[in-house]
Amino acid sequence: MENVKGILSAVAKSLVSKVLFSTFGLVGLVVVLIIIIIAAVFSSSDDIGSGVIGGKGEQLPESVLVWEADIAEAMERHELDSKYLYVMLAILKQESNGDVAKTNGDIFQASESKCGSIGCIKEPLESIDQAVSYFKETVIVSKDNMEVAIQSYNFGNGFATWTQENHDNKWSPEIAIEFSKKMLAEAKNPLIYKCHRQEAKDSGACYGDILYVPSILAFLPNAEGGPIEFNGQLGMPLAPALVTSEYGERYHPIHKEWRLHAGIDFGCIGGVTPIQASQDGTIERADWAGGWGQMVFIKHADNLYTRYAHLSSMAVSTGDSVSAGDVIGVCGTTGTSTNPHLHMEVQTTESQQSTVNPRSLLGI
Ligand SMILES: [Zn+2]
Repeated sequence: MENVKGILSAVAKSLVSKVLFSTFGLVGLVVVLIIIIIAAVFSSSDDIGSGVIGGKGEQLPESVLVWEADIAEAMERHELDSKYLYVMLAILKQESNGDVAKTNGDIFQASESKCGSIGCIKEPLESIDQAVSYFKETVIVSKDNMEVAIQSYNFGNGFATWTQENHDNKWSPEIAIEFSKKMLAEAKNPLIYKCHRQEAKDSGACYGDILYVPSILAFLPNAEGGPIEFNGQLGMPLAPALVTSEYGERYHPIHKEWRLHAGIDFGCIGGVTPIQASQDGTIERADWAGGWGQMVFIKHADNLYTRYAHLSSMAVSTGDSVSAGDVIGVCGTTGTSTNPHLHMEVQTTESQQSTVNPRSLLGI
């Protein structure tokens, strides 16, 4: 269905491009071609109202990932949904690659949003705090539409209110170009906006970055899953693997008491991030399991079991054999859970009393 729609719209667009070519010549054709390519790559997002889409699973550099725990902590403080963890990391990649020296400590280049001028933030943790707090604002204004929120982080929150009034709170490359041109036309001094991309130059959309959304989303997980990373005896059940809560005693956010958090939590995107088997094994159980929600429990050996909880859907049944890396389900927030994440447990016997910290077996 998606393909048929894609082909039809491509045919329609190529007809339009012929008309434009005769009208505007080569430049017009190039602009339209760029728009078609961008639209084709991201057309699948058109049908998803929430704006949550799968990415390309591009690897974030170590210089960015070292800030993961600090970003996760700031997100908890500002109550920013953990599904945005990858987005914040990708923004950091985009802004500075996590380079403290080059940015004089303002790794998110967040000074302007804090005090209206560059240079007031001189410390990475302050930069992270400001970036997360500002992104939280864009999420609220954009009504939790991921693409609109990301573009608003770059264009300013005026983009979210404008697309709500004019485009039903949607984001697309064309909509980004339209807004960029509008802002340029309204600017008192349009010459201060330097074009950083050829595509923007070609379409005359040099305000902000019209390709900010796709360049951030490229780092979101690929819905197909991929080869899993082995650092220890067990492979990583998702990628990228961003720990949001550790194994051990903690104050439970829902039960409001101290208790053992018997597993490790990874941030992931509900309905998108594939969850993969950490090792070869047999599915002991794959069904609804109370607080765990939709849960998969795998036996790998007599002394090694893994559990994957809060899934939005399951791709295996009890009794199935799986190989390491097989997709067993999709990230979700079923059961006792406040937002999408993977809760993973490792046990040394069939009894839940035998949980151990998954970190050592995962080698992280
Ligand atoms: Zn958990």
